[in-house]
Amino acid sequence: MKTWAKKQILASHALRLAGSVRTPRAAVLMYHSVMPDPARYSDSLGDMIHCESEFRLQMELIARHYQPLSMDDLVDALQNGKGLPKRSVVITFDDGYTDNSEIAAPILNDFGIPSTFYITVDCVERRTLPWPSRLRYAFRNTRRSLWTDAQNKAWTLDNPRNRQDALLSACDDCCQLTGQVQEVFVMRIERELESQLPNQLSDLMMTYDQIRSLARQGHIVGSHTMTHPNMAYINDGDARTELAESKRRLEAQLNTQVKHFAYPCPAMSPHWNELTTEKARAVGYASAVTTNSGLVGFGDNLLHLNRVKPTKTLHGLQWNLECAFAGRRV
Ligand SMILES: [Zn+2]
Repeated sequence: MKTWAKKQILASHALRLAGSVRTPRAAVLMYHSVMPDPARYSDSLGDMIHCESEFRLQMELIARHYQPLSMDDLVDALQNGKGLPKRSVVITFDDGYTDNSEIAAPILNDFGIPSTFYITVDCVERRTLPWPSRLRYAFRNTRRSLWTDAQNKAWTLDNPRNRQDALLSACDDCCQLTGQVQEVFVMRIERELESQLPNQLSDLMMTYDQIRSLARQGHIVGSHTMTHPNMAYINDGDARTELAESKRRLEAQLNTQVKHFAYPCPAMSPHWNELTTEKARAVGYASAVTTNSGLVGFGDNLLHLNRVKPTKTLHGLQWNLECAFAGRRV
């Protein structure tokens, strides 16, 4: 639908009326990064970055026209069947980028909006971006015209389309690896492509000081695993380490309980299953969010909650939310 048509429908409040008669459900928005100039880091972070000015407008919209909730409040309402306030919105950030602390948090604080920040613990401790960003950078910036993968298949890298295909294939392999094995895999590709992230990009990950500061400001810190694998494709022992060790380290650094988890969603589908949700529960998480699209409500399993991917513009987000609350697909 054209933008002007969407604006007409939003202005008519028809969607809002449709939503007002439904049992209240909440939209959990999934952000990653907020920067003044998203194009500057598109070779590493891809299209995960929201423009700072547009993000400010989006938060103003949420503060004025929706009911911001914290993840703790959402879990409490769903667990106890207390009922959700109408038009509830929960803000979340995945991965643990520095801009979450330096740019997003001050904006959230200006509008009194609580947020949950899910941290990829190994990346914070080793000052390196999650592996999908490292591989994206290597494939986009290599000068090599040919690459041979682990199965001995040759990939031509002579145009952006072919590079993207080779990257996606490498991601399918890498998402099944964790820890040191994953690191060796990524370093081998960086070496073969003679292309690796510039050192200054290590500043894109938050420090523990910044993460502690977010907690002091009243925001919630959760886990996004140790090394960002696809949890549905790794073995039991590795899954337990990703869930439990990340929780333990964050708790030691923050001196508080870490109760919330976000499943990484790299490459293959699905990115969670009934077994992974039971492991998350056994390790002691009260909630886990996925990247499955939709609202959440009473009766949902708290260990695999849907989220809504916020589009990059103010009106795009308003359209996302009004359609979702009116019961249309998001
Ligand atoms: Zn992630």
